[in-house]
Amino acid sequence: MATTMDKGATPQNPDKPLGLTVLGATGSIGLSTLDVVARHPERYRVIALTAYRDVEGMLRLCRAHQPQIAVLVDSDAAERLSQALRAEALAIEVLTGAEALVRVAGLDAVDYVMSAIVGAAGLAPSLEAARCGKRVLLANKEALVMSGALFMEQVRKHAALLLPIDSEHNAIFQCMPPGFITGESPAGVRRILLTASGGPFRNMPLDQFAQVTPEQACAHPNWDMGRKISVDSATMMNKGLEVIEACWLFGLPVDQVQVVLHPQSVIHSLVDYQDGSVLAQLGNPDMRTPIAHALAWPERIDSGVQPLDLFAVGRLDFSAPDPKRFPCLELAYAAWRQGGTAPAVLNAANEVAVQAFLEGKLSFDRIAPVIEASLAGCSIQAGDDLQQILDADQSARLVACEQIAIKPRRVML
Ligand code: NAD
Ligand code: MG
Repeated sequence: MATTMDKGATPQNPDKPLGLTVLGATGSIGLSTLDVVARHPERYRVIALTAYRDVEGMLRLCRAHQPQIAVLVDSDAAERLSQALRAEALAIEVLTGAEALVRVAGLDAVDYVMSAIVGAAGLAPSLEAARCGKRVLLANKEALVMSGALFMEQVRKHAALLLPIDSEHNAIFQCMPPGFITGESPAGVRRILLTASGGPFRNMPLDQFAQVTPEQACAHPNWDMGRKISVDSATMMNKGLEVIEACWLFGLPVDQVQVVLHPQSVIHSLVDYQDGSVLAQLGNPDMRTPIAHALAWPERIDSGVQPLDLFAVGRLDFSAPDPKRFPCLELAYAAWRQGGTAPAVLNAANEVAVQAFLEGKLSFDRIAPVIEASLAGCSIQAGDDLQQILDADQSARLVACEQIAIKPRRVML
C-alpha cells in the first residue's frame, strides 16, 4: 500500500523554499496562510496570489510577499492593480479571468496550492492542483462537496497529496493511524466525532429566527471567518458540508460520522477507535494551526498561535444538535445519502440562499426551505463527470433563484 510519505510534490528540501500559490489570498484563510508563511521565509516562496476584485488588499499582499503573479478575476480590478504596481515599480505579472486561477494552480514552480476561494468558484483551480500532483491544502470544502468522487480520483491518479485545512478535518487527520492517506478507509476506526460550536444562534428562541440580521449571523462566538462560512455556521449547513467532506476525506460511511455540539471550540474533532480509545486534537480556535500543520506536515512549525490555556478554558461541554433548530444539517445528510449530483445541488442552492440572505433578499429562516425545494426541484444525475456536476450546479442556482424570486447571476466555474 502507498503511504502518505511516498506521494509526489512534497519535497522538504531546506536548501530551496517551496513554491506556493494562494487561491483566495485576500480572504480570511488566505491572510492567515500568508501570516504563517511570512514567519518561515526560508521554507516557502509565494509564487502566485489570487482574489476576486480587491485591488487594495491585493496591492498590500504584493508589497509584502512579492509574488511572481497576481490574479484578479475581475478585469477592471486587474487593470487598476497593474497600474498601481507599475507606479510602485513592482515587477509582478497581473492576470485576469477565471482561467488564470486554473493556470496559477498548475505552474511548474508551484509545489503547494492553498485552495481558499469561497464556494463553487474554487472547484476548477482545486481540481487542476490535484491534476498536476501538487500538495493541495484544501480549505474550499464546497469543491469537495460538489465533486468528491472526481476530486479524489484526480488526487489518486496524479499522486497529489490532499491535506485538509478545515479545522475539524485537520484535527481528524492528525488523530488518524500512522501512514493514513486521505481518501482511504482507516483501519480500526469506529467513528469520527465532528465537533460544532452551534454558532451564534445555539440558544436563540426559534420564533426569532425570521428576524435574524446578516450582522448577527456573521458574529460567530469563537471564529473570525468570511461572511459566507459564518452564515453557514449559523445555519449549521457548514457542519452538513463538513459531514460530506469527512466522508470523502476519511473513506467512512455517513453513519460513522457523528456531529457533536461543543460550544467552546477547543476540541476540533475526535476519532473513536474500536478498542475504545478516543483521540482528540485540541487548540485555540485559530486557523493558523491547521494551516501550519498542513504546510509543514509531517514536520511541525511555529504558527503564531498562543498556547492553549486549559485553566482559562475551565470546562468542555457536549450535546447533540437539535434537528428542528438546524434543518440544514439534516438536508446535507439526506443529500449525501441520495448521492450523485445531490450534494452539488445542495451546495449551489445554499450559496444562492446565503448570498440572498446577506443582501437582505431572504430571511434567515427561509434558507433551509429554499435548499429543500431546490433538491426536490432538480433531477439528480450520477455525477460521474464534471459536466454533469456543473450542469447540476447551474440548474440548482436557477431553481433556488425562482424560489427566492430573484434574477439568476452567472457564476464562472
Ligand atoms: P473569504 O470570504 O474571507 O475569502 C474568500 C476569498 O475567495 C477572497 O480572497 C475572495 O477574493 C476570493 N473569491 C471569492 N469569490 C471568488 C470568485 N468567484 N472567484 C475567485 N475568487 C473568489 O472566505 P474564507 O472565510 O477565507 O473561506 C474560504 C474557504 O475556506 C471557504 O470555502 C470556507 O468554507 C473555507 N474555510 C474557512 C474557514 C475560516 O475560518 N475562514 C475555516 C474552514 C474552512
Ligand atoms: Mg470547519
